[in-house]
Amino acid sequence: MREPRRAPGSEWLQNHPTLLEAIYRFSKRAFAWVYPPLKWISPSWTERLMVWVERLLKGWIFDCRMCGQCILHSSGMTCPMVCPKYLRNGPCGGVRPDGNCEVIPDMPCVWVQAWERSQQMNVYADDLRILQPPLNHTLQNTSAWINVMEKRDNRAPPGWAEVTPDAGGHAAPREP
Ligand code: SF4
Repeated sequence: MREPRRAPGSEWLQNHPTLLEAIYRFSKRAFAWVYPPLKWISPSWTERLMVWVERLLKGWIFDCRMCGQCILHSSGMTCPMVCPKYLRNGPCGGVRPDGNCEVIPDMPCVWVQAWERSQQMNVYADDLRILQPPLNHTLQNTSAWINVMEKRDNRAPPGWAEVTPDAGGHAAPREP
């Protein structure tokens, strides 16, 4: 297990989640425009390009582990896969009194940071309360952006239910 990498400037960016949130919203709209023609030209080339871009940019800012199912906007723009327990729903019961991780004592708990950062967000603050489905490991090392466009990222096992803020904390059937 390796400790999260803290690239120059990445901590500052992550501590400004409203800026990252605005970039995410713009990028999502922009990619929705450029993805269809790119896919038309070459799906495999587009996949390779996006994997390269995501490794570079999200790797620098978030120490992205390329899970292929990005939930950054639902976790305070803090990557949950950096958690030593790989929790998609956190925190666990082991957070130390100082807010650090029980596995890596020198490291702030990813989910404490996710909570604190999410509270600064304007649009996605409440998405932290959404119960995330089990990770689909077949998407590892694929482009999360393309998986969003192809709706591969929100496929969940049969019978899975999620808790949404709209459902008032009650389990609601997930959209197919
Ligand atoms: S949630 Fe997945 S895709 Fe998003 S930054 Fe973390 S590892 Fe990368």
